[in-house]
Amino acid sequence: MREKKPAPSGAFSNRRCRVAQLNLRIWLRSITYHSGLKPSANASGETIQQHGKRIAFDSSRSPTAGLLAAGVAVINLPLAMEPLTPEPAARGPRRKVFHVRGLTKVYGLGLAEVHALAGVDLDLFEGELVVLLGPSGSGKTTLLNNLGGLDLPTAGELRYQDFDLTTAEESDLTRYRRDSVGFIFQFYNLIPSLTARENVALITEIARDPMPPEDALQMVNLGARLDHFPAQLSGGEQQRVAIARAIAKRPEVLLCDEPTGALDVRTGIVVLEAIERVNRDLGTLTVVITHNAVMADMADRVIHLSDGRVLNEHRNSVRAAASSLNW
Ligand code: ADP
Ligand code: MG
Repeated sequence: MREKKPAPSGAFSNRRCRVAQLNLRIWLRSITYHSGLKPSANASGETIQQHGKRIAFDSSRSPTAGLLAAGVAVINLPLAMEPLTPEPAARGPRRKVFHVRGLTKVYGLGLAEVHALAGVDLDLFEGELVVLLGPSGSGKTTLLNNLGGLDLPTAGELRYQDFDLTTAEESDLTRYRRDSVGFIFQFYNLIPSLTARENVALITEIARDPMPPEDALQMVNLGARLDHFPAQLSGGEQQRVAIARAIAKRPEVLLCDEPTGALDVRTGIVVLEAIERVNRDLGTLTVVITHNAVMADMADRVIHLSDGRVLNEHRNSVRAAASSLNW
């Protein structure tokens, strides 16, 4: 799990930071959250977005100029550029986030025994968008619930970074769910008497390092619906509020169980675009469960589940834009 954020100090000069440029976007990684770098406009009026430990801003100028414009470069950042980072789909193996081996989940006893997971082996990596495909009853929800610390396996290995979910104390599991995991379910579970903004604020008030609810809602293109109640929003908009609520705490992992299951195609695609954007802009490891094979095209990696086991997996060389999908 993430370390507690250190108290901000005045200067950036003593902060270590990795710099990478991705297309026209410059990323400062691993910097410490700093009140002086809240999202703001730089000298040329470009918006600087801050996402937890990352800052991104678009700049067609040299990285150094961009950093200067962002008010960051007054400092002795190690400005040696990392090699240019390719698009996520083309990236090689990255830091492993989940380690799953022989994962087994048995519900019931005796004749009523159901082997929901019958030995799942899986690794999930930082920043990837994984689509988990499988027919109804194949164990998708059970697997997701185990990854998210909502349910515990019967046997097998399950680690989030170096946190062993199989032996964790309940209080550590609670903290893990609260700080590290964002959940999105088929049904939005919004509180009807609270506005979109208030539904998101409910989470940001207890989170450790949240983004403002308005920023989270802006990310899912609901900046103009902040003060609407769920009943005044369409199904797709309500689901996007649920996404904003899940990401506002800047989770390391976003787990989505049939996020478009209750939506028509057009609305479903807008919701997938929001998920795609979160994955791309925040770099959040994202797992999307579906039985809709079309959605496989938007993934970096597709994992097929059948009868509680991984049947096969493949990597897409190119990720299709969610907006290009149709079913
Ligand atoms: P999927 O999400 O792929 O449809 P699930 O993970 O929900 O599959 O379910 C896998 C199997 O485990 C199914 O046969 C289901 O009936 C069973 N199952 C899931 N949850 C429970 C539970 N709480 N108690 C008993 N059986 C369960
Ligand atoms: Mg399910």
